[in-house]
Amino acid sequence: MNSSLSGRTALITGAANGIGEAIARRFVSEGANVMLIDLDTERGQAVADSLGRSASFLAGDVSDKSLPERAVAEAVARFGDLDILVNNAGILITRNVFDLTIDEFERVIAVNLTAGFAFAQAAARHMKTRGGGSIINMSSVNALLALPEQIPYAVSKGGIAQLTRVMAVALVGENIRVNAIGPGTIATDMAKASVLADPAARHTVMSRTPMGRLGEPAEVANVAVFLASEQSSYITGQTIYVDGGRLPLNYVVPVAD
Ligand code: NAD
Repeated sequence: MNSSLSGRTALITGAANGIGEAIARRFVSEGANVMLIDLDTERGQAVADSLGRSASFLAGDVSDKSLPERAVAEAVARFGDLDILVNNAGILITRNVFDLTIDEFERVIAVNLTAGFAFAQAAARHMKTRGGGSIINMSSVNALLALPEQIPYAVSKGGIAQLTRVMAVALVGENIRVNAIGPGTIATDMAKASVLADPAARHTVMSRTPMGRLGEPAEVANVAVFLASEQSSYITGQTIYVDGGRLPLNYVVPVAD
C-alpha cells in the first residue's frame, strides 16, 4: 500500500468516540496500525474490532499515572514500534465561576493537560530509541477564546498550546515533532452535550462561524494525517486551527435558524 501512514504505528487516546474515533479510522485507511485508549471499554473495543488486525484497544483513564508507560509498551509489543501519538482524550465541565469546585478544576486539568504531558513523555522515551516521531495534541479554539463557564477547559487548552511549543523545542534534537490541532465546534457527543443542546448557545456559536456550519470529525482527522505524516516534516510547535473561520472573525455573521 502506498498511503501516507503505511507501516506506521499510532497511539490514540479518547479513541472510542468523536474526533479520536475519526482519527483512528482515517489512520488505518492510510495504512497505519493503531492502539486505541479510552475509558469506554464497550465502545473502544467495538471500534477496534471494526478496524480488524490493524487496531488494538486498551481500556484506561488517561489520568492514571501508570497508563502511559503501559500503553506505549502494549503498542510496541502488539505492533513492533510506536512513532505517532495523538493526545486526544478530553473532558468539558461547564460551571459558573462561583460554583466550580477545585476538584472539578483539577479533574479537567488532569485529563486534558497533565495526561498529555505524561503520554508525550512516555512516547518520546520510545521514539528517542527509534530515531524520531510525531506527537499531536488536541487543543481547541478555547486555547485563545474565553467562555466564562468553561474556566478549567480554557486553561487546559491554553496549557496545551504552550505544552506543544515547549515540548517541540525540548524534543527537536530527537527528531520528534510536536504539534496541535485546535478545532472549532465539531459535531461530536461533546458538542451535542454542551453548546448544541441549548438553541441560544447554538445560535451564538453559529453567529461566530463564518462557514455557517459545524465541523465534522473527519475534517479534524485530515489534519491529524498531515501532522503525523512526512508531509509536515518542517512543522513543529504549531497549532493548526480547524474552525471554519471562527478565530479570524470580528463581530458576528447572520444565522439561518
Ligand atoms: P467526545 O466526548 O465525543 O469523545 C471523547 C472521548 O474521550 C470519549 O470516547 C471518552 O470516553 C474519552 N475520554 C474522556 N475522558 C477520558 C479519560 N479520562 N481517559 C480516557 N478516555 C477518556 O469528545 P470529542 O468532541 O471527540 O473531543 C475530542 C477532543 O477534541 C477533546 O480533547 C476535546 O477537548 C477536543 N475538542 C472538541 C471540540 C468539539 O467541538 N467537539 C472542539 C474543540 C476541541
